[in-house]
Amino acid sequence: MSYLIQGETGDWEVVIGLEVHAQVISKAKLFSGAATDFGAEPNTQVSPVDAGMPGMLPVINETCVEQAVRTGLGLKAAINLTSVFARKNYFYADLPQGYQISQYEAPIVGEGTILLDLPDGSTRAVGIERLHLEQDAGKSLHDQHPSKSYIDLNRSGVALMEIVSKPDMRSPEEAGAYLKKLRSILRYLGTCDGNMEEGSMRCDCNVSVRPVGEAGYRTRCEIKNVNSVRFVMQAIEYEARRHIDVYEEGGTIQQETRLFDSAKGETRSMRSKEHAHDYRYFPDPDLLPLVLSPDFVANIEASLPELPDEKKERFMRDFALSPYDAGVLVADKATADFFETVARGRDAKMAANWVTGDFFAALNRSGRSIEDPPVTAANLGGLIDLIADNTISGRIAKEVFELMLETGKPPAVIVEEKGLKQVTDTGAIEGVIDTVLAQNADKVAEYKSGKDKLFGFFVGQVMKASQGKANPALVNELLKAKLG
Ligand code: MN
Repeated sequence: MSYLIQGETGDWEVVIGLEVHAQVISKAKLFSGAATDFGAEPNTQVSPVDAGMPGMLPVINETCVEQAVRTGLGLKAAINLTSVFARKNYFYADLPQGYQISQYEAPIVGEGTILLDLPDGSTRAVGIERLHLEQDAGKSLHDQHPSKSYIDLNRSGVALMEIVSKPDMRSPEEAGAYLKKLRSILRYLGTCDGNMEEGSMRCDCNVSVRPVGEAGYRTRCEIKNVNSVRFVMQAIEYEARRHIDVYEEGGTIQQETRLFDSAKGETRSMRSKEHAHDYRYFPDPDLLPLVLSPDFVANIEASLPELPDEKKERFMRDFALSPYDAGVLVADKATADFFETVARGRDAKMAANWVTGDFFAALNRSGRSIEDPPVTAANLGGLIDLIADNTISGRIAKEVFELMLETGKPPAVIVEEKGLKQVTDTGAIEGVIDTVLAQNADKVAEYKSGKDKLFGFFVGQVMKASQGKANPALVNELLKAKLG
């Protein structure tokens, strides 16, 4: 898949790398026992460690370490048995320690891979550079008072995984696919809820451009803290065009940190890019190097769930689904489970069509979630059984499905109550055909004189006369015989 932006001077390629801060699912913070629940009253989940009180000592939370390793294994990445926590020094009102405990030279997870599922059903591998553990900062609240800012330290010290990709993406669509896939993997693993609106997944986008065919990378800009997949794609698009315009007017790009203004759809300068040496990183003297035993890692590996890529392979193999259908169904685990319940022991292609077609549409309309679906998997499976054993036609099934949505009743009950059973009695269908042909003697004559297209008209009339209940295959067969 090639994505190029046309400029005045020729075609340009976009180079994208993403850094995602993913909040670890854990009851307690990375180095303290304070709670991590979202939405609590300000400053009610703050230990002396999180408040940066002098003399307090951080103590590592084993659950957070486990979650980072689990994520690393899910990203097919190398796990570093020894990693080191470092202090990243900077001043900000919501960072009472005056430094963030992070990992710098020796992260807990090294290189890995994410497979992107692209809209045309193909896949593309994007490299993971590293994953490291670090503390989140507090939150500055600027909208509580006309002239004052307030600080909420509930988030201070919450564990984050910073997941850094290689600069392997070449279009906003690929960046979007990367975020969706990463979020899907994190949710399958249960290591981050992936909720971008609540800030539990935040994305920094590194963007540069180069003329097609040029080797090496040009200066990049970093767009900080973009909080939705759509905004990430918009920000990259805008930033790439800005670079191209600057180059084509003979200018140069300064490396800098920028903000995305989602109301205006543009990025703007925030500060000149800071460099690693500005932070004066050094190993945190309060913490020993983090050393993992091979057993600790092996135990986590043994407990990994089936992940989206493996599930997709299995769905393609066992249910003969297309890469696209399989990709759509496995993106969310609850959806995949729903589909599997519907498909097991039934025609998988028919199950996939019903789930991705009428069911998804009904789910969207209802505003409900897959965990609380408007039609249960058992009932949808039951509907497919009724089609498979010729109790109802595919057309009547649509009608039954709507009634299932309205009443919540099982499909067999609806078919019984409404008398929707398909007519497969040859004699009964022949009776209807005779009536229809008698009423349309002129058309029969036209048909017999060579107007073949009228066959469809007769089928339609017979189906209508039977209120859609005649078996369509039988109608075709009997009509052909009658019309000779
Ligand atoms: Mn970070």
